[in-house]
Amino acid sequence: MKLLLVAECRDGIVLGNYNELLSFAGKAGGDHAMFLVGRESSLPHYGGRLYLADSVKHGEYRPDNHKKLLLDTIAKEKPDMIVFCHSSYGWDLAPRVAWALKAAQVSEVVDYVDGDLVVPVCNAKLRRVVRVLTGTTVVTLQAGAFSPAGELGGSPVIERVTGDNESRIEFLGYEAVEAGGVDLAKAEIIVSAGRGIGKPENVEMVAALARALGGEYGASRPVVDSEWVEHSRQVGTTGQSVAPKLYVACGISGAIQHLAGMKKSEFVVAINTDRDAPIGEIADVLVVADLTQLVPILTAKISAL
Ligand SMILES: Cc1cc2nc3c(=O)[nH]c(=O)nc-3n(C[C@H](O)[C@H](O)[C@H](O)COP(=O)(O)OP(=O)(O)OC[C@H]3O[C@@H](n4cnc5c(N)ncnc54)[C@H](O)[C@@H]3O)c2cc1C
Repeated sequence: MKLLLVAECRDGIVLGNYNELLSFAGKAGGDHAMFLVGRESSLPHYGGRLYLADSVKHGEYRPDNHKKLLLDTIAKEKPDMIVFCHSSYGWDLAPRVAWALKAAQVSEVVDYVDGDLVVPVCNAKLRRVVRVLTGTTVVTLQAGAFSPAGELGGSPVIERVTGDNESRIEFLGYEAVEAGGVDLAKAEIIVSAGRGIGKPENVEMVAALARALGGEYGASRPVVDSEWVEHSRQVGTTGQSVAPKLYVACGISGAIQHLAGMKKSEFVVAINTDRDAPIGEIADVLVVADLTQLVPILTAKISAL
């Protein structure tokens, strides 16, 4: 098996998510090389072959132009699998490359088991195992599914990739998320509300427990999408990454995207009616209970201390 890992750069800096590509490569086994449209001043800690195109010339976000550079590299490297992160860059570029190669594309892969790719289905409640029949496969990896590969080191052996810089896409720039809201990253204790809270009125129940513990409250994405809690409190790949001393997950199932944002917490307590909820796999303590009954009692007991 030969892999080509597609790294990304933003504002001239290589993004750390190449780490997840390496973690996937470690699981898949075999040989790998990396491709990056970036700058020589910011390279991945990677001891292998790096095909490097200059982002000053080719821009950081010109998928049509980057596709040409990548196809040239693929023609040279002849990988069995081309692997992207499922980021805005990856999900734009990957299908262009798959289409050009007439290759199968498997998106948002969360695991690799015995040569098969695993993807979530039914709102991540189920997993589908995919076996690809085309010679070349294009894959995107769901953020957080492959934990960063331990200690990285080494300097890449660079092979320059050049080509014209024609593009029909004009990149205008990045727009920063509006500052403000709560900085959960600073909280030592976080109590988070998941869809299991059932109704918006129950957010206050979770917030009260957080206050009693001297912490902040957070939420999973469905709670934020329902506008029960503001986005600055969302934990996960599309929210904040947190590493508190104590994380209490109330009615949160433990989807990969949520875990990616909180799995560095020192101690995790989960309250869930389902004893088989995936959050149980990473929780230090799983309390099988109805949160609407348990949380007010906990809050009262802690407040009385
Ligand atoms: C690209 C992408 C990015 C995403 N980014 C994020 C992200 O940043 N953060 C995030 O959280 N999600 C994110 N998601 C969504 C993620 O896949 C899950 O859908 C989401 O995390 C599920 O939230 P939940 O656990 O609150 O809800 P559910 O999965 O519906 O789980 C609810 C849980 O509550 C339990 N429950 C129900 N009633 C009770 C009760 N009375 N007492 C106790 N427990 C109860 C149930 O057993 C269940 O385990 C993303 C998805 C995608 C595709």
